[in-house]
Amino acid sequence: MKFQPSFTRKLAFGAAALTFFSITESQAQEVPKPPKMVPEMTEFWEPEPRKVTPGVNNSAPSDAIVLFNGKDLSEWKAKGDGSDAKWQVKDGAFTVGKGDISTKRQFNDFQLHIEWSAPDEVKGTSQGRGNSGIFLQDRYEVQVLDSYNNRTYSNGQAGSIYKQHRPLVNAMNKPTEWNVYDIIYTAPRFKEDGTLFSPARVTVLHNGVLVQNNTEIKGPTEYIGLPEYKPHGKASITLQDHGNPVSFRNVWIREL
Ligand code: MG
Repeated sequence: MKFQPSFTRKLAFGAAALTFFSITESQAQEVPKPPKMVPEMTEFWEPEPRKVTPGVNNSAPSDAIVLFNGKDLSEWKAKGDGSDAKWQVKDGAFTVGKGDISTKRQFNDFQLHIEWSAPDEVKGTSQGRGNSGIFLQDRYEVQVLDSYNNRTYSNGQAGSIYKQHRPLVNAMNKPTEWNVYDIIYTAPRFKEDGTLFSPARVTVLHNGVLVQNNTEIKGPTEYIGLPEYKPHGKASITLQDHGNPVSFRNVWIREL
């Protein structure tokens, strides 16, 4: 009887042959070749970054919210009772008056530009000289202090995260000169049960010099005691009245 391979046998033979030839081929190559890369394989085109016109000499970029334009405090209110901010505006700057002031707008993550000057007349020592502060989300203070030839505790000098982190260096200008802070801030995140998911982080440049490098904020900056996070959402930028006539100008913010 003549041998007639069944359909199943033909299939088995075919599969065995295929395996044989593929093994032979891979053995010949030894190392399997990765797919050939071409430059286009690692390019992505969408989304295209939107255009922003940069500011000139520290002025606001086209997509910033101007928080002080040199003329009025219309973006600010008294922190205490929400009434109009009454700090004095003069010569394109405003100076600390009675009580803290807060932005009317509230923010989460942002890039903040703010310029400040310690009083020209040098008075007081340590924390009593040219003290104010910039409270990020109304809770986390980047210290403002006349730290020009004025020793105080390191985590309380200009550019510190008050009572938590000292600045990396002292980049302070003289009291008669202006200082610039550029602050990049990431708000803390909280879980639904109110516990902390991720702490706030902040990078601060003082006169263009890095003083806080993606620093982890431990909680609200307390004068006495240890910081402890409590859940919150968007919040104002608050400027501190510490009884010293510190001036501010050219304030703008970009929400991130
Ligand atoms: Mg202060």
